[in-house]
Amino acid sequence: MRTYHPYLEVICLKVIDSHCPGCSILCGVHIIDDDEGIDIEFMKSCTINSGKLCKFGIDLPKFYSSPKQEPYVYGKKVSYDDAIAATADALKSWENTRGMSEGVILCTGDATCEELLVLGKLAKKADMVCATGLGKIVSTIGGTTLLRKSSNFNIIEYAKSIILVDIDPYYQYPLIARKLQIAKSNGAHIISIGTEKPHIDHIVDEVKLIHPSKMQKELESLCESVSSETLFITSLGIYSDLSTIAAINNNCTKQYSRIMYMKDFANTEGSLVLGIDTKNNSIEDIIEGMESGKITALFLIESPLYESYIDNERFRNACQNLQHLIILQSRATSVPNNAIMLPLPLFYERKGTLINVCGRFLSLKGDKEGVAGVSNDILEKLGAKKLSFETLTQEAVDRYSKWKSLIPERSTVEVPKSAVDSGPCHKYISNPFLVRGLPYTPCKRVGKGLYPKAKKKERYAVLQDIAENVVLSYEKDTRFRKVLDIYE
Ligand code: SF4
Repeated sequence: MRTYHPYLEVICLKVIDSHCPGCSILCGVHIIDDDEGIDIEFMKSCTINSGKLCKFGIDLPKFYSSPKQEPYVYGKKVSYDDAIAATADALKSWENTRGMSEGVILCTGDATCEELLVLGKLAKKADMVCATGLGKIVSTIGGTTLLRKSSNFNIIEYAKSIILVDIDPYYQYPLIARKLQIAKSNGAHIISIGTEKPHIDHIVDEVKLIHPSKMQKELESLCESVSSETLFITSLGIYSDLSTIAAINNNCTKQYSRIMYMKDFANTEGSLVLGIDTKNNSIEDIIEGMESGKITALFLIESPLYESYIDNERFRNACQNLQHLIILQSRATSVPNNAIMLPLPLFYERKGTLINVCGRFLSLKGDKEGVAGVSNDILEKLGAKKLSFETLTQEAVDRYSKWKSLIPERSTVEVPKSAVDSGPCHKYISNPFLVRGLPYTPCKRVGKGLYPKAKKKERYAVLQDIAENVVLSYEKDTRFRKVLDIYE
């Protein structure tokens, strides 16, 4: 039996320099992993956020402490090696039976550059295509024009004229609210155009409340009167309306204005820089492909869309149609009976590189290879050569440097018709909680016109400055299955 000195206390403390996976800002944060669990310490030295975090960042200990995913094969818990062997078998059997059908590797962006690169290579080996859910927007607008290379938020802080398009920084990207505050004190004129009055009234000079169906027209008339020095800030994610994004792109291209697209997933910038999406589809297109039998195999990476997608029931049903469903996931999620589940380390446990919304190249200081490690195990089982992590990092560095030296060309594109008419509609506001299927404040925001009707139906309806005929939602409501749905 060991004896300890009575005053000697052994504390096992692991501190990892990390970045919050909540959105594309990638705020710096120290993760403390000790005997008592996971905690965070503010990273004041990080130039991105100077230690500040939003509610999602503060909640990271809770996010990371939830149960981890375990390996499963068709509803049965198995060893990791068995799950890898089953994946290799599934890929071989798909190759023999696929006919003309397609296989898709879908990762919305919570992955390092190395992980994204290895997915691209796995897709090639298995004759599949990679998708991010942004493919339709990227192929319409052009991937590199959706990015910025400013390295920091000076572009916001020193902008003299800013237009927020359909974005409430306070709820969606709180760190941006701080940067706008600095811009305001530097003399910026800030206009907000969208369905709600952003919760930063004290710094916004003009608010234009617009029903989603009128956005395109309003943008056109607004752009006629703004200077080319203007900076537009909007949100870009799997639920974004392509017609709004295309309208912003066209107006800014004509006026030579700048645009900053804030993104919902950690490394969406990385996926754009590396050109990962070869599918050129929206999530809706992919679901249709699964429903029609055009897509028969799906790899789903860190995106439990059958839980977090707004119409998750439809997504689940479409998954049932597949011949093969392989899910690589870190936090435990429900296990579909037709799926092979492969566990991943948590985001902070991984090593690798990331690119944030300013175009800054960052690194995660964990020690696990994540998707790269799992993919290598699958490749090895398939008799293919493993990829060295260092080589993947070097490739990420090279591709990033090449992108940095490119001057993106912007051009106007055809604007698709808006998805809604001018009638009453229900609209979701994307935020780090919503896109990850996590609980959020159950609140519906409604303007004067619809408030009496909404109050009768919605327990949490709050009267606010919202465009006529719009009800805004921040948490999933199973009655409304589309981002913009009819509200009757
Ligand atoms: S969710 Fe975004 S803004 Fe919030 S702490 Fe994480 S990275 Fe920063």
